[in-house]
Amino acid sequence: MVEPANADGDLNQWLAQQAAQRQARFLERRRLTLSVSDAVTVRAGDELLLNFSGNDYLGLASHPEMIAALKDAADSHGVGSGASALVSGFRKQHQLLEKELAEFLQRDKVLLCSSGYLANLAVATSLTTRGDVIIQDKLCHASLIDGARLSRAKLLRYPHADLDVLQRQLEKSRTGNALVVSDGVFSMDGDTAPVAGLSALCRQHGAWLAVDDAHGIGICGPAGRGSVAAAGLSATQVPVLTGTLGKAFGCFGAFIAGSGALIDQLVNEARSYIYTTAMPPALAAAARAALRRVSEDEWRREHLQALIGHFREAAAQRGLALMDSQSPIQPLVIGKSQDTLELSARLRKKGFLVVAIRPPTVPEGTSRLRITLSAAHRFSQLDKLLDAVAESCKHG
Ligand SMILES: *Cc1c(COP(=O)(O)O)cnc(C)c1O
Repeated sequence: MVEPANADGDLNQWLAQQAAQRQARFLERRRLTLSVSDAVTVRAGDELLLNFSGNDYLGLASHPEMIAALKDAADSHGVGSGASALVSGFRKQHQLLEKELAEFLQRDKVLLCSSGYLANLAVATSLTTRGDVIIQDKLCHASLIDGARLSRAKLLRYPHADLDVLQRQLEKSRTGNALVVSDGVFSMDGDTAPVAGLSALCRQHGAWLAVDDAHGIGICGPAGRGSVAAAGLSATQVPVLTGTLGKAFGCFGAFIAGSGALIDQLVNEARSYIYTTAMPPALAAAARAALRRVSEDEWRREHLQALIGHFREAAAQRGLALMDSQSPIQPLVIGKSQDTLELSARLRKKGFLVVAIRPPTVPEGTSRLRITLSAAHRFSQLDKLLDAVAESCKHG
């Protein structure tokens, strides 16, 4: 085959410039190839690392019941779903998981999605369009921003958790619908959204509220029903609730919970739901096993809360200033990307995996170690990490 002269060379040149710019700003990203050794230990080549950078908050990702459910379902139903849900990919396991999630979350209906990213695109694009407005917290997850962009609605953002600014934004005259969107627990800061205040403002101004509780469901609230339930809010107060199966559930996939009418709207209008292959039914079976552990294993949440309390106390004793978070996300803000990368590298030499989180995931100048805790961690492991952090900061 004859290559068109130069076309490739131009692209390569441009790509090299892009890569050089990223490197110069310490924003280059690389993937680490890991294999799992146990719930909190990973192997990178011949390094054995204690993982403080995962979202398997309840330590369920390698639970034997989930593994067995996945294997059994694959044996009986195969692997791929073979089509999108509306064509021929929707199976009994999906239907049962939707029903059980709806019962767990105390909502009328649930729609399973292939990922939380796609679930958030689905919500924004099927509830709003040109002429409407989406108002988001400035620290909302990237998928919520992308959903708003794709919806063609006007996107307004208020400073983190600032209900006064949100109120002014809602008061400004508008013609179309208004959708207020927030993380329930913020993914990079670990703090909880003022969901009761958001819901009250939405009610006053006739706006709709969607909460993405990717880091809350399974972890906080009664029986792990999340930050909306923790605030005592009902389906009327928070009509759109999304969550992921990839974090506390230790599985994969995501869901949107709400009224039957909401789910009908999504099934009919959400392109990110309609035009993608349905999740493998065996994964739905594994997620059903996870849901049983999430709802029944109160001890996992109790141990996790004890770890969080211990971690915060032990960090304070060592003079380490954490952000104000009561969730398993315990960030230590360093500031510059370069410094954060160096600290992360020093910790890795000591046997800890704590990935540096840099812009654009977090605002410029707030690069951080996003330390995450799991119910599979032991107290002594937290102490060892904190000793290593304190030591590395001193000699940094
Ligand atoms: C992780 C995350 C998502 C994406 O969920 P996936 O299932 O991983 O695609 C969405 N929203 C928030 C707040 C998240 O942290």
